[in-house]
Amino acid sequence: MIPTLFIVVPCYNEQEVLTETTRVLLDKLARMEKDGLCSENSRIVYVDDGSRDDTWPLITRLQEDHPAVRGLKLSRNRGHQNALLAGLMTVKEECDCAVSMDADLQDDVEVLSEFVRKFREGCDVVYGVRNSRETDTAFKRSTAQGFYKVMHLLGAEVVYNHADYRLMSRRALQALSEYKEVNLFLRGIVPLIGFRSDYVYYDRHERFAGESKYPLKKMIAFAMEGITSFSVKPLKLISRLGILISILSIFGLLYALISYCTGHAVAGWTAIVSSIWLLGGLQMLCLGVAGTYIGKIYSEVKARPRFIIEEYRREEEPKEEEKS
Ligand code: UDP
Ligand code: MG
Repeated sequence: MIPTLFIVVPCYNEQEVLTETTRVLLDKLARMEKDGLCSENSRIVYVDDGSRDDTWPLITRLQEDHPAVRGLKLSRNRGHQNALLAGLMTVKEECDCAVSMDADLQDDVEVLSEFVRKFREGCDVVYGVRNSRETDTAFKRSTAQGFYKVMHLLGAEVVYNHADYRLMSRRALQALSEYKEVNLFLRGIVPLIGFRSDYVYYDRHERFAGESKYPLKKMIAFAMEGITSFSVKPLKLISRLGILISILSIFGLLYALISYCTGHAVAGWTAIVSSIWLLGGLQMLCLGVAGTYIGKIYSEVKARPRFIIEEYRREEEPKEEEKS
């Protein structure tokens, strides 16, 4: 069976890169088709995540010029993870497998062949894993690695050095659609799906144009999302911290009593004030952690839609695909 491959690309203000990305991806698809790795029905699907620049008009133009390009427009900016999900859920009935990748060609497109080979060997999920992080700034590298370590410590199963460059089969996508959570962290959800999976290693290049849409603030928010969506360990940690502090305060009390009885009544204003500050701070921290989880429950309970599609542009008169 020659699979129909869809490449889903979320785009937020990517007008500088999309023309080149389309050229590279179309070229790669043509070569893969020649090698019998993907069928002629394979497509590139750009998901415009509420861009404020000319990304959507550009996607429209690309879609008109190339029959293999489709465009999906979200009603507003919903963030990378939701845009990706919107794309994957829209195409899941039409493709045999879908690869998600960023618009900026940082992920090596040559490994697409390797992805498909693994898929044909029977893998339902293939993770793209970065060989090294040499092209990142030292800051991004260390924060990202710290993030994986923390996730691991907290017991969430995430693939080390894997971003959202991955292939999923149709049935894996079907399974993904069963996960209804609003607080979306795909890297944590996909490993939960199961099925046979494998890894493909690649080198990540630098973004060739435009700038990163993940500034530090978004990166921290994303890491917090991952941690609080996949681990309740922080809640356990604060309980333990509470117990520890209670035990310590018993000793403190004993010490105070003994000093009082032995007549060394402490002038100890500093100690009192500093412990008030310390405990106040800790309490606020603990409240904050608990509050974060409650906030998540709140948004899950409301179950608002994760994305709203404004427009879906695709080639006219789609060929009836042979379902095999
Ligand atoms: N992106 C998106 N919505 C957003 C932010 C980013 O769809 O709100 C897309 C962006 O267009 C790109 C991908 O997510 O295709 C990854 O973003 P970027 O390359 O800026 O992140 P970095 O590689 O710097 O982590
Ligand atoms: Mg990038």
